Amino acid sequence: MAEATPAPPAACEREFLEYSGPVAGMKYPVKVKYCGDCGTPIEYCEFYPNYEKCKKWLESNLPDEFGKIVSVKDDDGEGGGGGGGEADDSEKKKRQTRGGKGTVKAKKKSEPTGIKVGTSKRGKKKTITIVIGLASYDIDLKDAAKFFSNKFACGSTVQGEDEICIQGDVKDDLFDILPEKWKAISEDDIDDVGEIKK
Ligand SMILES: [Zn+2]
Repeated sequence: MAEATPAPPAACEREFLEYSGPVAGMKYPVKVKYCGDCGTPIEYCEFYPNYEKCKKWLESNLPDEFGKIVSVKDDDGEGGGGGGGEADDSEKKKRQTRGGKGTVKAKKKSEPTGIKVGTSKRGKKKTITIVIGLASYDIDLKDAAKFFSNKFACGSTVQGEDEICIQGDVKDDLFDILPEKWKAISEDDIDDVGEIKK
């Protein structure tokens, strides 16, 4: 009954795990070498999370196999590295572009923002002058405070990130003194904000 004979499996099924006979150059029975560290056949060590430990074990216990595995891996690494290198380069370029934009932004941030000068009352009689924005002109605030102290013969202190407090009402003088002392500042950059209430 020819019909009863099942059709032979499709080629793709048949070849899968089919014994194809001895392979030239192979010694039989095949001796699987197991890794003393992770316990898997040594060709699986690279999938073991602690591959570095495996490599050490292989190096001292199976130096020949270690040499084979590592040299193969190295070749792979270089080949893969070359292929991946291009991708990395384009990635880098993208990042550099992004970085470049970031740098421009950072520069803009430190662009002079103008100077604000104002006064503030301390008690009933005391007035202080506040100068905001000198740091955006790359002016060292401590130096500036010292300069004001000498210029006005009064106390002057740095407050916060970009603010200098000068004892006394010297606001009007600042419109002349600031551009004179720092060329980057023009009189137009200075904005009188009047009384600053704190
Ligand atoms: Zn291993």
